[in-house]
Amino acid sequence: MKYEISITKTTQPKERLADESKLGFGKIFTDHMFIMDYSDDSGWHDARIVPFGPIALHPASTVLHYGAEIFEGMKAYRTANGEISMFRPLENIRRLNQSAERLCLPTIDEEACLDILKTLVALEKDWVPHADGTSLYIRPYIYGNDPHLGVHAVHNATFVVICSPVGAYYAEGIKPVKIAIESEDVRAVRGGTGYAKCGGNYAASLRAGKRAEERGYTQVLWLDGVERKYIEEVGAMNVMFKINGKIVTPTLTGSVLPGITRKSCVELLREWGYEVEERLISVDELFDAAEKGTLEEAWGTGTAAVVSPIGHLSYKDQIYTVSNNEIGALTQKLYDELTGIQWGKSEDKHNWVEPVCKA
Ligand SMILES: *Cc1c(COP(=O)(O)O)cnc(C)c1O
Repeated sequence: MKYEISITKTTQPKERLADESKLGFGKIFTDHMFIMDYSDDSGWHDARIVPFGPIALHPASTVLHYGAEIFEGMKAYRTANGEISMFRPLENIRRLNQSAERLCLPTIDEEACLDILKTLVALEKDWVPHADGTSLYIRPYIYGNDPHLGVHAVHNATFVVICSPVGAYYAEGIKPVKIAIESEDVRAVRGGTGYAKCGGNYAASLRAGKRAEERGYTQVLWLDGVERKYIEEVGAMNVMFKINGKIVTPTLTGSVLPGITRKSCVELLREWGYEVEERLISVDELFDAAEKGTLEEAWGTGTAAVVSPIGHLSYKDQIYTVSNNEIGALTQKLYDELTGIQWGKSEDKHNWVEPVCKA
């Protein structure tokens, strides 16, 4: 199915930034956005693309009080073959619906949602930046929007999609990051909302992130919420380790976000003949490997950075350097292969690329 989307074009198109090296992340937005409302009685209705601008909210709206909000993060790329395309968008749409199910927000028909994303991106195609490594970040989100304070699964919701041209994540070349293993705060617990991409998970993570930054670290590595022993994720990325030639990544226990970059990396690594173990991995095992010299590489995976090498790990008073604080060969190979597919420079053998329109 598809929704009829009404389009109201802006009469005041914005000036585009000439110097794409100054784009940064999520600071500039395109001329239009998509909005659609939901009510139990009418389902999703009023699908519309309108000029980008503020959204009015009832002061009692559920999202403001009880955090009923979920989101996705994906990108559109200007490819080597003169197209605008997206990377595995159906995976994001399916995850949006899994998040919706967890937070009792309404789900959206997959095909209709893909049509919405493509329609908006095609309309905004001139906003997809040109410079190497740049892209158009797409942020779809759903929030609960009942106009009263009762605590219930919502009867009204709003779906919005905004787009932001973003700069190359590694403007100065890929640099390994410093990661602090967090021993106090936890991001999520099993049975909670860890596997859902919801704003509340981020709200809970900000304090540890702030403290880590104050100590000179880029991000925190989260441990499981029950035993504070098993590694879950790093910041807003999944995490992988190369230990003694094998790849180990935390299994999706329910408190780990099922990343699409993670999934793509696991698929590529297995094709390349690596043994990939999705299992519990404790901090003790990791530091043991680091001590023995078998921790060969460590990296985070996520849409924003694609892969992010970890060069330095700290836990309480222990500190380890990973692969000499340089990007490892396999981390580099994953980065090259994934970005090659995304920007249309490598063959898309897996059908991961979804064409949107001519550039
Ligand atoms: C979005 C996200 C990821 C990465 O998912 P991708 O689909 O690879 O972008 C990892 N962890 C958290 C907590 C996230 O929110």
